[in-house]
Amino acid sequence: MKSLAEVLCDWEAVIGLEIHTELTALKTKMFCNCRLSHHDEPNTNVCPVCLGMPGALPVPNREAIKSIVMAGLATNCKIQKRTCFYRKHYFYPDMAKNYQTTQGPVAFCMNGRLVLEVTGEGATERPDSTIGKDDDGSYTVSIRIKRIHMEEDAAKMVHVGGKEGRIGGASESLIDYNRCGIPLIELVTDPDLRTPEEARLFMEKLRQTFLALGISDCSLEHGSMRCDGNVSIRRRGDVELGTKVEMKNINSFKSLHDALAYEICRQAQVLEEGGAVLQETRHWEPSGRRTTVMRTKEAADDYRMYPDPDLPPFNLPDEFIEQCRARMPELPDAKRNRYMKSYGLRRREATYIAADPKTARLFEEAVALAGDAPLMVANVTMNLVPAVRNVQPFQVASISQLICSDAITFAQAREVLQIVDGTTDDPRQVVDERGMRQCTDAITMANAVDAVLAHSKKQINQYQDGNKKVIGYLIGQCMKASQGAGNPKYFGKILKERLER
Ligand code: ADP
Ligand code: MG
Ligand code: ZN
Repeated sequence: MKSLAEVLCDWEAVIGLEIHTELTALKTKMFCNCRLSHHDEPNTNVCPVCLGMPGALPVPNREAIKSIVMAGLATNCKIQKRTCFYRKHYFYPDMAKNYQTTQGPVAFCMNGRLVLEVTGEGATERPDSTIGKDDDGSYTVSIRIKRIHMEEDAAKMVHVGGKEGRIGGASESLIDYNRCGIPLIELVTDPDLRTPEEARLFMEKLRQTFLALGISDCSLEHGSMRCDGNVSIRRRGDVELGTKVEMKNINSFKSLHDALAYEICRQAQVLEEGGAVLQETRHWEPSGRRTTVMRTKEAADDYRMYPDPDLPPFNLPDEFIEQCRARMPELPDAKRNRYMKSYGLRRREATYIAADPKTARLFEEAVALAGDAPLMVANVTMNLVPAVRNVQPFQVASISQLICSDAITFAQAREVLQIVDGTTDDPRQVVDERGMRQCTDAITMANAVDAVLAHSKKQINQYQDGNKKVIGYLIGQCMKASQGAGNPKYFGKILKERLER
């Protein structure tokens, strides 16, 4: 098969995503008072409503409606005050009522958009001619969102004895109704995405947005956020859309990217060999790095959709929507802009820190404690904190101050952070107790440099032949020799003097 880059020179990919998010932050299910939890014994959080017993009546969860309205506001959707629930009929044991309660043509949220900034390596997936790119190759695209609707999750089925937990070849199937009736919001994009990287970024941005809203834990791994990728290709310049394939079983950002890339290349091969792409649902197999057919689409499914007579139509009052608006937190883009403006952070650092609410909170609390060292706090937050599990804002603040005042080096800071990880110990005390002060003694430093140079004939020759970058390696060796206590800038300076004399 051709590579993605080759394929995208001749063909344009058209991608639309359908993303389901469980509102895991809520305490109860969508239409009953059962506990919403993933960690309980199977079939313990069930009642006549979520088991579909005759005569049991559903009552919508007000907090769930607030969550979807907030999701809509965060994605620039128009909130529909007048809407209702529909029944979507199908027969399968994962839904005891034999219909899923979902929404019809009018969803709570309609016609939104998210703006993506595509930068770095990923931006090269989109051939230059199709969009205005900046000098560094990055570009911005606005992706339309068709709708976000409210529905309920189905029970979880476990197929025993089959391959990779799939039903084929299984000897028995177990059903856990704890998940049945958990509120889900489904977002459907327009087919505006053009590369696997754009799809990955969309999903990532949506996840960051929902995390900021605090409506879900958004775990792709555990299935509280699930994504189906629809993809077709067409000749560059064509207007008509090609036949789309829908892909399921995508449970990481990497799978989303790789599955789409694989599928685009597969479709190009089929078409270039004179074949036709079939409208079908395919299953991504991360192990085999390929997609296989799950089902070929017959005529449109007949779900016999109609408004649910048990759930009266909504007419959301303005005050309700205003309450939702008032509860909106600062979203990642706004946070990033504020970090750049008020702390002078660079775009890359600001974006990284603002993306995750926990990281952002740690950073802000540490900055408040460290006073005037926001840049160093950002540096520590971005480069050292990801390697540890649980550090306190005061520890990040005091480590940043220790580096800023040249008391310890960045390498020593890494070690101190690891020592205080999971404790409430004061980094200053650790530094004192272990005598981890930055070495400033000129003679000790010079001796370390000479010791390293004594067995670095090769690198000395390389440097003198014009390969100046080798100095980075030599600085690393000096750092090692000083057990991280020497200042790398100072080592660099002495090395240069020695090598250029
Ligand atoms: P269906 O009725 O088959 O579910 P929808 O119109 O609801 O189709 O679209 C489902 C998803 O597929 C949406 O995200 C949409 O953007 C995307 N989509 C629709 N047509 C195409 C196409 N030709 N190529 C790629 N994606 C498409
Ligand atoms: Mg659909
Ligand atoms: Zn229930």
